Amino acid sequence: MRLNTPVVNIRGVKIGGNNPIAVQSMTNTDTADASATAKQCIELADAGSELVRITVNNEASIKAVPEIRKILDKKGYKNLPLIGDFHFNGHKLFKNFPDCAKFLDKYRINPGNIGFGKEHDKNFKKIINTAIKNKKPVRIGINWGSIDKNLLAELMKKNFGKKKPKSDREVIIDTMIESALNSAKFAEKLGLPQNFIILSIKISVVQDMIEAYEKLVKRMTKDNHFYALHIGLTEAGSGMQGIISSSAALAILLQKGIGDTIRISLTPEPGQSRTREVEACKTILQSLGSRYFRPKITSCPGCGRTDSDFFQKLTKEIKGHINKNLKIWEKKYPRISEMKIAVMGCAVNGPGESRHADIAISLPGKSEQKVAPVFIKGKFKKNLKGKNIPQDFIKIIENFIEEKYGI
Ligand code: SF4
Repeated sequence: MRLNTPVVNIRGVKIGGNNPIAVQSMTNTDTADASATAKQCIELADAGSELVRITVNNEASIKAVPEIRKILDKKGYKNLPLIGDFHFNGHKLFKNFPDCAKFLDKYRINPGNIGFGKEHDKNFKKIINTAIKNKKPVRIGINWGSIDKNLLAELMKKNFGKKKPKSDREVIIDTMIESALNSAKFAEKLGLPQNFIILSIKISVVQDMIEAYEKLVKRMTKDNHFYALHIGLTEAGSGMQGIISSSAALAILLQKGIGDTIRISLTPEPGQSRTREVEACKTILQSLGSRYFRPKITSCPGCGRTDSDFFQKLTKEIKGHINKNLKIWEKKYPRISEMKIAVMGCAVNGPGESRHADIAISLPGKSEQKVAPVFIKGKFKKNLKGKNIPQDFIKIIENFIEEKYGI
């Protein structure tokens, strides 16, 4: 069951409560280059990112924000929330460019890098007051790479005096939780409503990240005072490692009802599209049955029973066909993303798997008769054979879509 967190409204995108878990991502362009940044925001939004974050690290970047918003609005992305990511100097940028702050829909701040002691409190107040004045939500994002050093020293000292001291790792996690909750309470005291606050505790080690969020939820439950949660593994890495580590961490938390919005922080390979992180988020949510974004294709891994790579090619062809048509299909057939297709390499699991799919094909394995039975809703429909199996199967899929999902 989902944790009952307050609902935060970010330019119409609702995060928290029972709202769908939102997908978000972050650009890697120079924000000062408004047209390149807006272009990437659009790419990310087109891929399915429901919120896009941009770094706001200097005067040139905050000055570019109104122009980025203008381009997005002009290109038909009026509803896309634009989030500003601030570190070290957010208070100064807000003070010097108060009008630009209005063009952002949420501010992300890290309490660990806006000064220490009284300086921290002063800077924090400035940022929160800007958020209150502009009616903008704030994500208080704790990252273990920039933890509040004073608080850590204080908790380490306390721990040292205990009969059974905790490990350094546990104290670091405790510090992050304290930092998040203290900052959230401080923001509320300053007048920022509870439903304008999102918390995150980012760690790059899967087990530590899971433990940190679980402990945070335990504390919020004990206090009976909740905040919407942004979850993600920070600096997850690139390629398969990044995707799998993030999936492992996110799946465990999401399964426990923890998390209102997710981001997968993937390092793109040189030249690779930034949209991969959005695809990864959507795939995780769909795998968990939490949200549906595209028809699901189940395919067997193949083994010694498959006598060629035909079934791999067929799977690829179907995927390609879906990718090519999905945007049009989504408009024409609103429930298309619920569809399940199965492509199986032989008769061992083909007919059985077909019972769990809307439409399935079981290709002939080695020494099987050279026919490919097609099943619709588990019932045998017809045998396909010959060179045209891919085209014939795609035709059957298209007819099925029209019959089942056509309005
Ligand atoms: S369905 Fe057949 S080909 Fe595919 S993995 Fe199972 S036994 Fe092998």
